[in-house]
Amino acid sequence: MKSAIYPGSFDPITNGHVDILRNGLVAFDRVVVAVLGNPRKSSLFTVDERVQIIREAVGSYDWAQGDTPEGGPRVEVDAFDGLLVQYAARKGIRTVLRGLRAVADFEYELQMANMNRHLDPRVATVFIMANDANFYVSSSVVKEAAKLGGDVSRLVPDSVAKRLYAKLGR
Ligand code: ADP
Repeated sequence: MKSAIYPGSFDPITNGHVDILRNGLVAFDRVVVAVLGNPRKSSLFTVDERVQIIREAVGSYDWAQGDTPEGGPRVEVDAFDGLLVQYAARKGIRTVLRGLRAVADFEYELQMANMNRHLDPRVATVFIMANDANFYVSSSVVKEAAKLGGDVSRLVPDSVAKRLYAKLGR
């Protein structure tokens, strides 16, 4: 069975993340979406909230349902702290799935992929592009726009828009 870990902040999950997950499920039997409690970044939602929000969103897509040939869901949502390669080793998974937006992501993603390979040469990172409609969507621009009262409902799953407005008191 081919499995991949899709790690990220997901603060909150956007349609860009959803594209990567959907495309990831074309290539992999199972994708573990893993929310990183990143102490470097201040977040709007707690790790537990982010996990719950992703579960809600994933539950609303037909394509994300179903079990792997070995049993167990094709999409798992989890949280982790610390080094990704250590988490990957604990899960017994060697492929990391990441997304690329416009060129802006390239440098950072290259650094991360190289560092992870350095820390554990058995771990490989694969990249997937978002669909063009969501190429420029990021959690940070979504939060910024929602804070200022903008309509972000087409940039995030429906359940996420509701959570965002509730959190921001709108
Ligand atoms: P991190 O803080 O680890 O970068 P993010 O939640 O911002 O976490 O992103 C997780 C992954 O999803 C990253 O690889 C990022 O490039 C990717 N991603 C996020 N939004 C998009 C998008 N619109 N298109 C393609 N990839 C995306």
